[in-house]
Amino acid sequence: MKILVTGGCGYIGSHTCVELLNENYEVVIIDNLSNSKEDVVNRIEQITNKKVKFYEGNVQDETLLKRIFEENKIDGVIHFAGYKAVGESVKKPLMYYENNLESTITLLRIMNDFDCKNIVFSSSATVYGVQESPKYVETMTRKETSSPYGTTKSMIEKIMEDLYYSDPTWTISLLRYFNPVGAHSSGLIGENPNGIPNNLMPYILKVAIGELPELTIFGNDYETPDGTCIRDYIHVVDLAKGHLCAITHALDNKGKLHTYNLGSGHGVSVKEIVDTFERVNNLKLNYKFGARREGDLPEFFADPSLALEELGWKTEQSIEDMCRDAYNFIIKETEK
Ligand code: NAD
Ligand code: UDP
Repeated sequence: MKILVTGGCGYIGSHTCVELLNENYEVVIIDNLSNSKEDVVNRIEQITNKKVKFYEGNVQDETLLKRIFEENKIDGVIHFAGYKAVGESVKKPLMYYENNLESTITLLRIMNDFDCKNIVFSSSATVYGVQESPKYVETMTRKETSSPYGTTKSMIEKIMEDLYYSDPTWTISLLRYFNPVGAHSSGLIGENPNGIPNNLMPYILKVAIGELPELTIFGNDYETPDGTCIRDYIHVVDLAKGHLCAITHALDNKGKLHTYNLGSGHGVSVKEIVDTFERVNNLKLNYKFGARREGDLPEFFADPSLALEELGWKTEQSIEDMCRDAYNFIIKETEK
């Protein structure tokens, strides 16, 4: 079976390619390298000892997409390609709507033309917006999102649902990720954003290696046990395995619309992440408590029981594993 992975050179995409190859899927990647490097393809091949077919280009490029489908018999698509920085999306909404929506619509149109109607999509817990309970279940309705980035995810979910209702021969899996962190245990692939990171773990890593002086923990006056925000962190390899389960299930159960939470089901506070990072890596992080960050919710975590029931998937790796693997990756990156 051959899977087209859009955005396969990126953080989650590269880990997913590894899991697919390990299960003997053939992998074709399209990525325009807007937030990644081509060397990731070599690293995926190094980890798996298998070959990947790589096309450099934009998913909005209809001619290129047609060529990919002509040159390869694609059985399913995992669609990661998109912009993902929440803050940037507030400043540049058109750039986000254009890239995330146009690439998805072009992709769906070409898939339809080639009668390849099986897609797994990278959605996000952000589509839940603010709910009455912090435990998010797939049956909750999508609410107002807090950024244009989040809105692109909500809109794409809706577009895909409408497509399914118009043609139920499509198989569509909407995967709502919680907070992916960590890296492959080889240290060859992981997340190392350019500039000052927005997300917690990349920020911690830059402080740990001395590239940034200090972490600010945004708020310690929330109504949580230690006053800091609570999230559901998931090891990126567990998340990648969730994609493997989703595409395998979709290939065996055609003509369905699925929505799954991919999270651990456990909330962990920012302070607990910092403490665990210090403990497992045997170091001290320079940090201070600061003001709350606008738009942050005090607490949310996944109810992942549907993914367990239908896909047989659940997370296996601990917060300790996430902190250790993330640090191992960044140390190897900086040694280069
Ligand atoms: P990433 O930026 O590392 O990977 C995205 C990849 O897509 C990059 O390699 C980039 O070069 C490529 N890309 C972007 N636009 C493209 C286009 N038009 N054509 C071709 N390639 C393009 O991001 P990631 O963390 O791996 O996230 C993957 C997906 O998961 C994204 O859609 C993101 O919104 C979603 N997601 C991520 C998180 C997270 O915390 N990382 C959480 C929820 C959802
Ligand atoms: N956070 C923090 N300092 C930072 C970055 C993040 O305290 O420099 C906190 C943030 O307030 C949130 C948690 O870490 O409670 C996770 O934030 P992140 O941006 O990684 O993911 P989000 O849940 O916002 O998508």
